Amino acid sequence: MRWSQAFIPTLKETPAEAEILSHKLLLRAGLVRKLTGGLYILLPLGLRVLRKIEQIVREEMNRAGALEVLMPALQPPEIWQQSGRYQTAQGVLFKARDHAKKEWVLGPTHEEVITTLLAGELSSYRQLPKNFYQIQTKFRDEIRPRFGLMRAKEFVMKDAYSFDTTDEAAQISYQKMYDAYARIFQRCGLKTMAVEADTGVMAGKFSHEFMVPAETGENEVAWCEQCHYAANVEKASSRATPTETASGGNPEKFATPGVATIDDLTRPPFGVPACRQIKTLVYIVENKPVLILMRGDHQLNEAKLTGTLGTATFRPAEAEEIVSALKARPGSLGAVDVKELPVHADETLHGAANMTTGANEDGFHLRQVDIGRDITVTKWSDLRLARAGEPCSKCGHPLRLQRAIEVGHVFKLGTKYTEAFNACFLDEAGQKHPAIMGCYGIGVTRTLQAVIEQSNDKDGIIWPLNVAPYAVCLTPLNVAPDSAVMKLAEDLYAALSARGVEVILDDRDERPGFKFKDSELIGFPIRVGLGEKSLAKGEVELKVRGGALTPVKVEEALEKVLERLKL
Ligand code: ATP
Ligand code: MG
Repeated sequence: MRWSQAFIPTLKETPAEAEILSHKLLLRAGLVRKLTGGLYILLPLGLRVLRKIEQIVREEMNRAGALEVLMPALQPPEIWQQSGRYQTAQGVLFKARDHAKKEWVLGPTHEEVITTLLAGELSSYRQLPKNFYQIQTKFRDEIRPRFGLMRAKEFVMKDAYSFDTTDEAAQISYQKMYDAYARIFQRCGLKTMAVEADTGVMAGKFSHEFMVPAETGENEVAWCEQCHYAANVEKASSRATPTETASGGNPEKFATPGVATIDDLTRPPFGVPACRQIKTLVYIVENKPVLILMRGDHQLNEAKLTGTLGTATFRPAEAEEIVSALKARPGSLGAVDVKELPVHADETLHGAANMTTGANEDGFHLRQVDIGRDITVTKWSDLRLARAGEPCSKCGHPLRLQRAIEVGHVFKLGTKYTEAFNACFLDEAGQKHPAIMGCYGIGVTRTLQAVIEQSNDKDGIIWPLNVAPYAVCLTPLNVAPDSAVMKLAEDLYAALSARGVEVILDDRDERPGFKFKDSELIGFPIRVGLGEKSLAKGEVELKVRGGALTPVKVEEALEKVLERLKL
């Protein structure tokens, strides 16, 4: 490609709309442009990178035995009714109407479609295992689209769905995808960590997310450097250290005017440490109030609450709902002698005595409260958000926390969809069973941006070779067609192209500094600078992005570049 004929609108200034570095670089390097919030146009260079990532994904999926299909992005809402997700996915579903005012769904994912296919095609165990995948545009009505391609309303996803006859076989399918994902991200030049992920209300199922460690990530991962346990904080557990203490006597009410938070009570004149307080939260679970008890210094993890309650239909109670449940306002809530409401408590409160909690009377608290004697707990569970420094639940070593970007997700689904759609097979004995399903997603456009977020320096992007828009940029500093510099550049361009190298020739009549800055900003892995001064010494200047400038002999230039590319 000749730069003068390409469309690479680089920007000197950082556009105000971009908050994170990779988003700024996407725009500055002329890879994408925004249409409107959450919708982006991939420009020629950006699309080249996307196609390379897609190709890597396709090769690894094929290698793992998955079969490529292409499903409609437009879906009938009836199948969403059938799976029960028409309601539960309400928040993310984009809907459209046709000329007859009939409603359609723009697919955010394709479990319903693929299972409908299987329901029509599957009859015998002999047809399984099967794994179908596609690379396709998805639509999600994200509440907060942001960070460019990271969280968009429309994005490219690779989604795959496996079907098996037994749990063991499903486990093998899962592992194949897990391994394929590890290879895909490695080939994209991304360092990822696979972490255990939350599975919501689907008890007994399991899942891993592939995470790119990055401060700007929307996820947080807890990990242990000793035993390599790693989990999304939504799921992460830390070892519980129960708050066992001796009883201090019977509960005693004391006035706490103006105290509204755990923090307020830690201050004089009260001075009750947060870890000696019981925090009482009121949630409305399927229309009924439920109390959640946490130690004062701990935070509730709502994903764990979903698992414990077996439903995701809950929300924090509104002020009036709290008053009608406990006759007091937040700040003075407690569970002492509450018999009529279910009480869920975090396991660290087990055996806790001599604690302080709200008295269910505005402006009053109770001290010397013993769990068990004074508070009846309906169910104990791990409800805490894991924190840095807490002991790893596997080995006891202090946990570390790290922010991260989720680029991929593998999920063992079980029979939720195959039962709902009657996607069944007959086994050898003629018995009918629903197929066991797994689903596997990669955010292809998000991966593109995650590579930039992880691989850059002050000058711009540093593309890993496998996904670079062009491998080599030739930068002649004199572009007059009859100049020796340009002639050599043309020769090298032809020779590299003949060897299958993707090369861009910067034939723009611009200042050297300007051209060099652009090529650094875009981040081509190799740049060959050709100028009169070095040519007089029989040399050109080879620069690996992010490395030093090396003079090489003109006659060795081709070989040296090929060597760098390992061709
Ligand atoms: P998130 O928690 O980030 O919303 P998710 O759990 O909803 O992701 P999945 O449904 O598992 O995501 O989708 C598979 C992959 O698609 C994700 O791992 C992510 O890489 C990508 N993805 C999801 N939502 C978006 C989005 N709005 N924009 C770009 N990529 C996305
Ligand atoms: Mg999401």
